[in-house]
This record gives sequence, structure tokens and C-alpha cells, in this order.
Amino acid sequence: MTGQIDYSQYERGRYCNYWDLDRTLQRELRRVSPDEEFEWAEPRLADFGEVVGHTIADNADYVDRHGPELDTYDRNGNVHNYVEYPAELHETERLAYESGIVADSFQTPPGRKTPLSHSHYFGMLYLLAYAETSGFVCPVAMTAGAAHVLELFDDGSLAEYYEALTSREYEHLIEGAMFLTEKQGGSDVGANETRAEYDDEAGYWRLTGEKWFCSNIDAEGTLALARTPDAPDGTAGLSMFLVPHGDPDEGVLTRGRRESFDGPPPGEALNDQYYRRLKEKLGTTNVPTGEVEFDGTKAHLVGEKGQGFKQMAEMLNLERLSNAASACGIMARAVLESKIHATNRVAFGRPIEEFPLMRADLVDMAVDHEAATAFTFEAIRHFTARERGRRTETEEESVERSYRLMRLLAPVAKLRTARMAIETTSYAMEIRGGDGYVDDFVTSRLLRDAQVLPIWEGTENILALDVLRALDREAAGEPFTAEIQEFLDSVDHPALTGTVETVESEFHSLVGAMAALAEADEEYAQLSAKRLAHYIFDVFTGALLLAEAQEQLDNGDARLALVARRFVERELADSEARGITDGDRFAIEFFEPIVHFEPIALEAVLDENDGE
Ligand SMILES: Cc1cc2nc3c(=O)[nH]c(=O)nc-3n(C[C@H](O)[C@H](O)[C@H](O)COP(=O)(O)OP(=O)(O)OC[C@H]3O[C@@H](n4cnc5c(N)ncnc54)[C@H](O)[C@@H]3O)c2cc1C
Repeated sequence: MTGQIDYSQYERGRYCNYWDLDRTLQRELRRVSPDEEFEWAEPRLADFGEVVGHTIADNADYVDRHGPELDTYDRNGNVHNYVEYPAELHETERLAYESGIVADSFQTPPGRKTPLSHSHYFGMLYLLAYAETSGFVCPVAMTAGAAHVLELFDDGSLAEYYEALTSREYEHLIEGAMFLTEKQGGSDVGANETRAEYDDEAGYWRLTGEKWFCSNIDAEGTLALARTPDAPDGTAGLSMFLVPHGDPDEGVLTRGRRESFDGPPPGEALNDQYYRRLKEKLGTTNVPTGEVEFDGTKAHLVGEKGQGFKQMAEMLNLERLSNAASACGIMARAVLESKIHATNRVAFGRPIEEFPLMRADLVDMAVDHEAATAFTFEAIRHFTARERGRRTETEEESVERSYRLMRLLAPVAKLRTARMAIETTSYAMEIRGGDGYVDDFVTSRLLRDAQVLPIWEGTENILALDVLRALDREAAGEPFTAEIQEFLDSVDHPALTGTVETVESEFHSLVGAMAALAEADEEYAQLSAKRLAHYIFDVFTGALLLAEAQEQLDNGDARLALVARRFVERELADSEARGITDGDRFAIEFFEPIVHFEPIALEAVLDENDGE
């Protein structure tokens, strides 16, 4: 689909194809994927966009009101940890996994010679987030994360679990989960107290302790951290274990095996643990989050003893980027709902999108979504390059540089997009007016579900500290500044000159700030870490959007030049009297190309501030 989009043909952001309508995702996924892969995958993305826009969107709303329930005891008082899911959620699971959302990036899909890159998984997850926001998106992300960890660290002894985590057939599928948080430590994972002891007779490790936040509680491929006897304190003493829901003596408890029982699986088919309760949450109803007590629970060691935290860090890189991709998908849905409503709703005799303030609102929501998605997919590009390098055993320096850069970009992507998703969904609710606050409309769920994004997988403060760590330990500043310079060097179109100058000046200041913090005492560095993370996002995104805008201009499309200009003006330029008196009517002049994708002539984007 090209040309202008008429949003008034829709009644709401439903019963449409999210892939076809999302030109931002199309552009970014094409940019970060090898051409051959993108061409091959595009029809699958389009099919998935259709399914998410119809059945999965309907199911998500239903499950939000009829979420999973826990039945800890059977009718005879025996523990059976049974989580009852509505049929609609099972249907969504089947549709998503059989579309290859996880499988295609880990196992060779039929018709190909190799698996797709990880970027494909992130694109599919983004599409799923249009409807499943952070609910069922969470189990999918943890399934991919657990597969990623086993691919990297398992010596083959857990191959059955890996095959099931990456299965594209529902009957053979299991899902992943990660149990880190204990009462005394979510951010402070080194405070974990759960113990692991080897049981010679049984031939398993046995875990004892309590996990306080366990999403996808009954997953068969749960990864948990625990401390082996005589292990040192802190993160260095943690090992990683795979803790199945079923009794591992009985084999892997796949979806097919679960369904083969008449009713809930009997106690003897299950591992020894106790699901105390599910949490009553603000949102993310579509995933059961509970508290688990391990009591001699059977577990398999994953990778090396004492390497649990390091291994979990690899999973966290993927989870944080998944969080960012789903934040972008949620923003995309919120922007879509807002555009549709604003074209159809009449107030004071006119569609509300015609009012100047609403034009500015919609332009800025669209620009935020573009900025968040561009940054996130650039981080994903580097994650993918590193993983592709590992899979092909390429020892090029570029792979190492991608890793260092990804270590910086992933926490920043998660931190900023989570905040932007909350702002965008909150404003989408307001654009819907009073109805937006009512559960009959999706906007209330979008905001409730977005609110978890800054909390799990590392809060904003913890991520800001991770940014300092990436700069210090991975020396990520060097590839970071080199990449910004590359972006800026690629831009020479006169329509971008003024914007480039602003970014260059802020880039210079950012480099100074990074150098100053590297020399500062720890207390001061921590005090400034969050501001630094946001500054990194703004400057990097400004330069990236400019480089992308240059490419689009070369192809005769000026829209992204406008997006870059608006983003940089808003986030990086100095303005007098907060811009109130500068006479700028950008949001009115360029509303149609930015919000409705109306084609725009190159001359129209040259203004008096641009180069001669
Ligand atoms: C819906 C939901 C599902 C979840 N699912 C899972 C799951 O499946 N698995 C799992 O392991 N966990 C899960 N969590 C837990 C989540 O990851 C933690 O709650 C989160 O990491 C914060 O940990 P905490 O709750 O212990 O808060 P704390 O660590 O006590 O943090 C409290 C506050 O202190 C701040 N803080 C802490 N340390 C510092 C510091 N050094 N400097 C500055 N500020 C600091 C934090 O930013 C935060 O604002 C889930 C949480 C929610 C809400």
C-alpha cells in the first residue's frame, strides 16, 4: 500500500491489517534485514498482521476481562497448581506460535535453508503487541529468551526443551519463563536466596526457596536463578536452572501432553512446587503472574555453575529489546486508534483532527512513534548482527562492535520507549474523550498494560545505571560516537542542513558530558545517569532519523525529513519563550504528510533556515 491513507474508512483500530497500515515498521524491518530475508518474510508478516488485526485483537479484549485463574488444589485437597486459561487465549497461542513468531528465528522454516534473523522475531512481536500489548507478548518474549539462552549455553543435554521452545507445531510446544525476583530483591538480583542442591539419587538438582514475581507461572521451560552450596554471595554465586512445570521423569510436558489428560494433569505428572496465588494486577491480565514456593523442586543446571547471572544477562538483552519492540507496537496501536477517532469524531461542527491543537497532538504522537521505532530497530540491528556473527562463527571486528553498541542501546531503548508508550497511550485515551476511560474501548487497556513496561526487565533507574556500566566496561562510547558521526556524514541534502547543525552541536555537548561523567565520582555519575540516557536517545535518534531521511529524499520521499525536523526541533533545539512566539506553523502545514502519509514535494520541505 502506498499513497495517502484514509483513516475515516475504519471505525476503530480493528478489523484491519496492522502490517499493511504500518509503514514505519515496514521501513525499519526492511532497513535492518538482509534483502533476501525481508522479501521472503514479507508475506508472512502480512498474514500475521491480518490475524492480529482480527482474531487476536478480539481475543485479547476478551481475555483482559476473563483472565487465567489459578486453582492450587484439586477437589481432594492435593496440590495441582492448575492454571485455567480461556479458550480464546489458547487460540491466540496457537495462531502466534504456528505463525513462526519464535520458531522462524531459531529453526529453519520450510522453504528456507537457514533460520531467519532475530530481527524477524522482533518484528512479529511488535505486530502482536498491537493487540496483546504486554499480556501474551510476555510469554512469547520469554519463550524466545529461554531458547536464546539454551542455544548459547546448553551443551545439548537440554535439546528436548530447546526443540519444544522453538516448535512451530502447537502440540510439541512449550513456553519459557524467568524467575529472578524474590521478596528481598528484584533490582538487586544478587540478594537471591533460593538454594540448589544436587540430589545424587534422583539425578537432579533440587531447588528450595521462594520466587515473588513469576509471569507465565506454569511454563515448562522456566529459567530460575539459585545459589549452590558454598557459592559466594552476590551475583557471582548464582547458577541458572531450568525448572519444568511437569515432573521431568515423565518427559517434557508439551501442549499436546497437557491436553491428553482428561482435565488438569494429575499431581504425579507434576514437579514438586507450590503456586501460592496469582497477583491481582493493574493490567497484563492476559499473562498469569504469581508467587512460587520451591520445595525440593527438580531442576536441570543450564550452562556452567556460577555463571547464572552472566547467562541471564544474555536473556535480558533480548527481553529488554522485546520490551522496547512491544512498546513501539503499543504506541502504533494508540496512534492508529487516535488517527481514526480524530477523522471521524465531529465537535463544534468539524472533525476534531481539523483543530490546530489536535493537529499538533497527532503530529507529535506520530513523530514519537517514528523516533521510538527507529531507535529500537537500530538496537535490534546490532543485536541481530552479533547473533548472526555467533551463528556463523564470524570473528570480524564489526560483530564485536555491534555487541558493544547493542549493550548501550538496549537499556536506552527499553528505558525511553517504555516512558513514551505510557505518554502516548495516556494521550490516546484523552483523544477518545470520556469513552477512552471506559473499558468498552481498547484505550484503557493500552494504558494499563503500558504501565508495566518501565517496571519489569529492569526499572528506569536500574537501566540508567546499566548505561554507565556499558560505557565503562564495554567501552561502548567509541562505537556509539563513531556511528553517530557516520549518520551525520551521510547527510548532505539542503532540506536537512538546519537540522543537521542542531544535532551536530548537541552531539558535541553529549560527547563532553560522557567524558565528564567518566571522570566524575560514582555518586555524581549516578545522579546524572538518567538524564544521560535520555540525552543519548535524543542525539542518536536525531542523527539516525536524518540519515534515514537522506535516503528517503534520494528516493523522492520527503516525509521523513519532516519527521526528523520535528523531532530535533522538539527534543534538541533551543527555543525562546518555549517556542510560543516563533511563528512556527509546522503542525498545520505538514499535518497531511506526517499523519496521513500524503505525498509531499521536495521543494515544500526546504525552508528559509536550510542551506542554500
Ligand atoms: C506484572 C509484573 C510481572 C513481573 N514478572 C516477573 C517475572 O516473570 N520474573 C521476575 O523475575 N520478575 C518479575 N517481575 C518483577 C520485576 O522485575 C521487579 O518488580 C522489578 O525488577 C523491580 O524489583 P523490585 O520490585 O524488587 O523493586 P526494587 O528493586 O525494590 O526497586 C524499588 C525502586 O527502587 C529503585 N532502585 C533500586 N535500586 C536502585 C539503585 N541502585 N539506584 C536507584 N534506584 C534504585 C527502583 O528503580 C525502583 O524504583 C514482575 C513485575 C511485575 C509488576
